[in-house]
Amino acid sequence: MSKAKRLRNYVNGAWRAPEDATYLEVINPATAEVLAEVPLSPSAEVGKAVQAAQTAFDGWQRVPAEDRIQHLFKLKYLLDEHMDELSRIITEENGKTFGESKGEMKRAIENVEMACGIPSLMQGDFSEDIASGIDEVMIRQPVGVAAIIAPFNFPGMIPFWFLPYAVATGNTCIVKPSERTPLTMQRVMDLVEEAGFPKGVINLVNGAADTVNALLDHPDVKAVSFVGSTPVARHVYARASANGKRVQAQGGAKNATIVMPDADMEMTVRILADSAFGNAGQRCLATALVVTVGEARETFTQAIREAAASRKVGYGLEEGVQMGPVITPQSKERIVGLIEQGIAEGANPLLDGREANVPGHEAGNFLNPTILDNVQPGSAIFQTEIFGPVLGLMHADTLDEAIGIVNSGNYGNMACIFTSSGAAARKFRYEAQAGNIGINIGVAAPMAFFPFSGWRDSFFGTLHAQGKHAVEFYTQTKVVVERWFKEWTRQF
Ligand code: NAD
Repeated sequence: MSKAKRLRNYVNGAWRAPEDATYLEVINPATAEVLAEVPLSPSAEVGKAVQAAQTAFDGWQRVPAEDRIQHLFKLKYLLDEHMDELSRIITEENGKTFGESKGEMKRAIENVEMACGIPSLMQGDFSEDIASGIDEVMIRQPVGVAAIIAPFNFPGMIPFWFLPYAVATGNTCIVKPSERTPLTMQRVMDLVEEAGFPKGVINLVNGAADTVNALLDHPDVKAVSFVGSTPVARHVYARASANGKRVQAQGGAKNATIVMPDADMEMTVRILADSAFGNAGQRCLATALVVTVGEARETFTQAIREAAASRKVGYGLEEGVQMGPVITPQSKERIVGLIEQGIAEGANPLLDGREANVPGHEAGNFLNPTILDNVQPGSAIFQTEIFGPVLGLMHADTLDEAIGIVNSGNYGNMACIFTSSGAAARKFRYEAQAGNIGINIGVAAPMAFFPFSGWRDSFFGTLHAQGKHAVEFYTQTKVVVERWFKEWTRQF
């Protein structure tokens, strides 16, 4: 048996070792070191967490919003204070560089800041005299217990797309982090405790598919927020909504970017190299395909090859490293298989990153950047989310043709254009079938006060993560129509 530390769940304000759980090793993807063992909690443990959250709900929803957010202000300062420590944990369990981890935590904190505005964000509406002597009021009330289910690629940020809004609006919640990267939330729960949230308001349950399904089936879970791959997002959306819950399920992506001949090529190449290879391509807003238009084919292709080839791959905690490993050996194998498939389908390996050698870290899941030129429209590699450091190139003669290619994919998470033409940019913004649009931007990640707007196979639901969408998702509207008689005359 491994000697690694066994992680616990955080339920009703206390740490508990789940009963009858099996354990999975949590492995540093750069060093292969076993960092901990994570419990796969059975449904009885989920039941305990839901019961704690349900019990806490009645008291928490009655706490004035102004008082609820005092805990969030405190949490914000604690997260700031522990930024380096949390970022280090993210790099150790996920593999991204320390700088990328800090960027992630900054985005998490922005959501806490946004949710501190809940007293005004959840205000209702009031109309006086909708008929003579009758007024109508709309108020927002919390829905109850919310489940927050996160993927491995942003272990610090993604739970915060939901958690601050859920609790600020008066709900209680259960966070279920990815079983591959559970350490960041483990530490965050210490800070939650320090921030003084009443027991049962924020709970943590570790596990994988069975644990998620227990949350989706539990009658006292009223709202489910999910982020992960499209097949699982589809499953979560179908199962939770069949069980009568409100659901927001964000899925995978295959983001395409158009490069026009009039783009500032030096900036474009630099920005797109970061977009494609940052986080080792394990980002739902990574550029996975570039479609060049006209002469951009020549200028862009050569320059992106050079930028990709010069990227320093290594352990994210070491100085100067620009790209870390992918999450697991299985993931590496899958990516290598997809590169092979792309070549078999007719793409040309302009840069082949399948063999990566990082001295001192031979056991890590490293790949170098790969560029596949001439990806064929309609090929499997064109439609498949690779989720690794692999950029596909395609070429079009006109902007219309390029937009047609962008819109022929199944996903709709992000689409970008690089150009100096306002007319081209406007046409693209109008016609692109994606919910997050970048214009001379490589990772069009919405700030906390905007919704994270995936479309098509990248999203199942109506209201997205973050901002006002989150406030609406975690509240139900109640409309009151009221009239008061003058008792002594029975007249208005
Ligand atoms: P994943 O779908 O494998 O896992 C996500 C969560 O679902 C985890 O908590 C996991 O335990 C759980 N899960 C896995 N299989 C399940 C099953 N069969 N039934 C129920 N629950 C299950 O995703 P991942 O590999 O952790 O993350 C990468 C994916 O997430 C990529 O597809 C990426 O594009 C996507 N992603 C999307 C966004 C977005 O905002 N759209 C953001 C980040 C990541």
